Amino acid sequence: MSAPHFDNSYARLPDKFYTKLDPTKVANPALIRLNTGLAEQMGLDPDWLGTQAGLDMLSGNQVPVGAAPLAQVYAGHQFGGWSGQLGDGRANLLGELEGPDGHHWDLQLKGSGPTPYSRMGDGRSALGPVLREYIVSEAMAALGVPTTRALAAVTTGEIVLRDKREPGGILTRVAPSHIRVGTFQFFAAQQDIDGLQTLTDYTLARHYPDAEGALGLLKAVTDAQAKLVAHWMSLGFIHGVMNTDNTHMGGLTIDYGPCAFMDTYHPAKVFSSIDQFGRYAYQAQPEILVWNLAQLASSLLPLIDSNSDKAVEAAQTVLQGYAPSYSNAWLSRFGAKLGIAAPVKDDIALTQDILTKMADNLVDFTLFFRAIAQEDPTSARDLFVDPTQFDDWAERWQTRMPDPALMRASNPALIPRNHQVEAAIQAGNTGDFAPFHRLTDALQDPFTDRPEITDLQAAPREEQLVHQTFCGT
Ligand code: AMP
Ligand code: MG
Repeated sequence: MSAPHFDNSYARLPDKFYTKLDPTKVANPALIRLNTGLAEQMGLDPDWLGTQAGLDMLSGNQVPVGAAPLAQVYAGHQFGGWSGQLGDGRANLLGELEGPDGHHWDLQLKGSGPTPYSRMGDGRSALGPVLREYIVSEAMAALGVPTTRALAAVTTGEIVLRDKREPGGILTRVAPSHIRVGTFQFFAAQQDIDGLQTLTDYTLARHYPDAEGALGLLKAVTDAQAKLVAHWMSLGFIHGVMNTDNTHMGGLTIDYGPCAFMDTYHPAKVFSSIDQFGRYAYQAQPEILVWNLAQLASSLLPLIDSNSDKAVEAAQTVLQGYAPSYSNAWLSRFGAKLGIAAPVKDDIALTQDILTKMADNLVDFTLFFRAIAQEDPTSARDLFVDPTQFDDWAERWQTRMPDPALMRASNPALIPRNHQVEAAIQAGNTGDFAPFHRLTDALQDPFTDRPEITDLQAAPREEQLVHQTFCGT
């Protein structure tokens, strides 16, 4: 058995990028789940992680040899309002590891105690959000969506105070980096050109080694994020808090708070309890993203050109690439969902048409797309309040000769349904982790129908419906 070997490149950046700080110890930690497959990918020994020394690391009770814990500083726009000082308020980046394939991984504890960036918060996380992030981020990974990952979840043996008393938890989150649009905004707001340059070089090396300079970075992030949001849309995923501090520079899904997958399709669907005006509704996501990218662009301007007019013009040209990049990605995702490998312009209308009908007929998003992949489309038809609306559309769709194999590979048989996630959390809060394990296990194979997951595939009954999801805060 071997302990991890850390190499901490972020900790070697200048002091202004973070506060060096150890996690705060917890009373009585216990392991809930360890992601052994991911551990191996990262070059971590799962057996070692399962020992007392492993638990000590995953709970923040002992800083492993070679780690250099720190809380990262960043800023951001939250619901459109500027916060000049955010940062890891409840997380410590323990250190970095290199997997056998040469990939870099940040190892971060989330819920590990207060930091200088905690503002009014306690630096802790309730167990519920830890379980939700574990389930949903690992589901996203299995669905092929770029995302931060979950290596482990532990209970702390402590109580945290939210609306009520709740058990505490810590998630070990891993990702190639935790650099956000808000990290760039932090240095831009300070007019710290050196800081911006250092961060740009670091981000390029970590995420886009083939891109060059601040403009190259902007273009790479724009492309990666356009593809990411199109991928979310194709799965009915709603992030819930697309603030600039939750927009990852590597194009990963990050910060699973009040996120959710839609059950019945509606473009204006919102779940987040803190999103009162629907700023981050399903259909708003692609536009919000371009707003966030514009914030990144404006942060990068001083590096793009010393002549500010030229800098603005160059940045605008890159941002203009977002719309076509998103539309192409959207069409190719939804084309695949309809079994069309090379969608053409007319397929946009075909897709929009069925989506409108789905909204009008309260059709379950995931069940519908899975059902059309079956040989007999009756089950898809039956999802409509007025099935003849499906028939009209299906006739046109059939002329496109849909490929069932492509549909089965693009339309998941299983997503983490809100009511199942909530049930896993509620059981977890009483110390019963069986539903959490079952759901997490099942979601590792999201594209295969099998009898033992039938209940997890089903749409919620009226009384099971989840109307709101909540942040970790
Ligand atoms: P989020 O919207 O979850 O991405 O969080 C926004 C900011 O609030 C981040 O800087 C978090 O670190 C911070 N934060 C969230 N919850 C807590 C907490 N319980 N204690 C301290 N800081 C927190
Ligand atoms: Mg955040």
